[in-house]
Amino acid sequence: MLNLILFGPPGSGKGTQAEKLIDKYGILHISTGDLFRYEMGNNTPLGLKAKEYMSKGELVPDEVTIGMLKNKVNANPDASGIIFDGFPRTIPQAEALDAFLAEKGTEVTALIALDVPDEELVTRLLKRGRTSGRADDNDEAIIRNRIAVYKSETAQVFGHYNAAGKSRLIPGVGTIEEIFSRLTEAIDQAC
Ligand code: AMP
Repeated sequence: MLNLILFGPPGSGKGTQAEKLIDKYGILHISTGDLFRYEMGNNTPLGLKAKEYMSKGELVPDEVTIGMLKNKVNANPDASGIIFDGFPRTIPQAEALDAFLAEKGTEVTALIALDVPDEELVTRLLKRGRTSGRADDNDEAIIRNRIAVYKSETAQVFGHYNAAGKSRLIPGVGTIEEIFSRLTEAIDQAC
């Protein structure tokens, strides 16, 4: 199985690139942010819980996120691979993912991180906020908090997979096509 973690701060282009990767590799795309937004849209208990954290730009607690992620993977037993987008975002999430995949006889193939300067992230997210309908893209203070949370809680996940020689950092600026070709090159090297 090709199990890719698409990594990087909010606004680094993970969602855009994931859409293109699905077309090329034909694998399942799981975005925990999208799953939470779906639950929120349906006002489910999980959605209401997630909203408390998402509206502030904080992380949803690990046990909630990990449980939801496992359900989604288990609901797709025939997937030939998975792009994890926005997960794992903490070391406990990474450890839970590793154990979960190991139980299934598979593992993370590679983590590819998109590198984008902070000010570019803020500009991109504010621009996206004009059309995305996402409350967390419309407020500069929340955006800056999401970037700070990425640095304090999420960035270490790069090191977790780097210790196993699985992490790659690629420039996340340029055209969508340029970034996509860097990504596929890094993926093809990792496989
Ligand atoms: P995203 O769409 O990936 O930018 O995620 C939007 C928001 O959903 C984040 O700011 C968090 O509040 C929440 N979220 C998404 N994925 C996770 C995760 N793996 N762990 C905790 N919270 C998450």
